[in-house]
Amino acid sequence: MYPCLHIDRDKIAENARTMKELTGRYGIEITGVTKVFGGEPRIASTLTAQGIRKLGDSRIENIKKYASLDCEKWLIRMPSISEAEDAVRYCDVTVNSEIETLEALNRAALHQGKIHKVILMADLGDLREGYIKEEELARAAAYVKEKKGLELYGLGTNLTCFSFIQSDEEKMNRLLTLAGKYDAATCISGGNSATLRLMLNGGIPAGINNLRLGESVLFGRERATYQYLPGTHNDTFILEAEIIEAKEKPSMPIGTIGADSYGHTPTFIDRGIRKRIICALGKQDVDVETMWPVDQGAEIIGASSDHLIVDVTDADRHFKVGETIRFRLGYFAVMRAFTSSYVEKRFYDSKTPGIGKVG
Ligand SMILES: *Cc1c(COP(=O)(O)O)cnc(C)c1O
Repeated sequence: MYPCLHIDRDKIAENARTMKELTGRYGIEITGVTKVFGGEPRIASTLTAQGIRKLGDSRIENIKKYASLDCEKWLIRMPSISEAEDAVRYCDVTVNSEIETLEALNRAALHQGKIHKVILMADLGDLREGYIKEEELARAAAYVKEKKGLELYGLGTNLTCFSFIQSDEEKMNRLLTLAGKYDAATCISGGNSATLRLMLNGGIPAGINNLRLGESVLFGRERATYQYLPGTHNDTFILEAEIIEAKEKPSMPIGTIGADSYGHTPTFIDRGIRKRIICALGKQDVDVETMWPVDQGAEIIGASSDHLIVDVTDADRHFKVGETIRFRLGYFAVMRAFTSSYVEKRFYDSKTPGIGKVG
């Protein structure tokens, strides 16, 4: 059935091994981030099988799916107060930035007879989550330390997600200083895949001992300069879609152009008559801006919710209706494909019988 997402677990395993070895050299442990693939246990277990001992997700629903895996489970988006009971039940660790939420977590932990681990988030300038005022962070740290249901496990920060502020040595030193000062140094989580560049340049001070990594483990990419990391694969996820129309058409639309769904008026360049195909796939299933045809010369020119249009005039093969075309997927495209119930997911590894490798 199409569209079909082909998932190469061997390549994901190799990426996980490479990243674990690489970060290990800098004294950093990985929390593998599972939100890109919706917490799918067949991928989560691929990560733990490579020795990744911590997994994190922004949604409890995803973490529940791999409840049986033996690893430390982190909720990496602050829990809602309304989900505090579930957060304590299904997660060992949560990141936090509000006293009211910590109160709810403490109540839930006492109720369930558990001690819940808390990482307090420090906002070092990206202006998404975390404490920006030190006195508030100090108050939260003191609160966690005095509550019987909570353990102050560490400090974390998140950068390059909202304002795309890069991590630097000064910010890492600030995090380290705060963690020492407030006795929150068991686990100091210095960021996501965007902090890897700094790590490779030797800019992460000793003491920062954790990074939360999604993109780099799954796609082999660091996010500061968007380079592929040596020894990793970037074709772990391939989407195959069926062609439902293949025709030559003019590149200039015919008639008066109106506003699109976002209120903008699109413009077109006259490139003469072009060969284009329509795939049975759309914005509901993928993010068109983070996917690329595998075939050289083919070019995605647009999509609506259920139709993806590809210009294949310069492609190195011929495309017919009823045939399929493959795409290499990036972060948001994979995320949406996993969320779409219209996309079939197929898992492969070296033990899959009778199936050739994808890609
Ligand atoms: C998504 C997310 C990550 C993982 O980011 P990558 O760039 O995929 O490594 C880490 N931390 C938090 C808080 C996140 O929301």
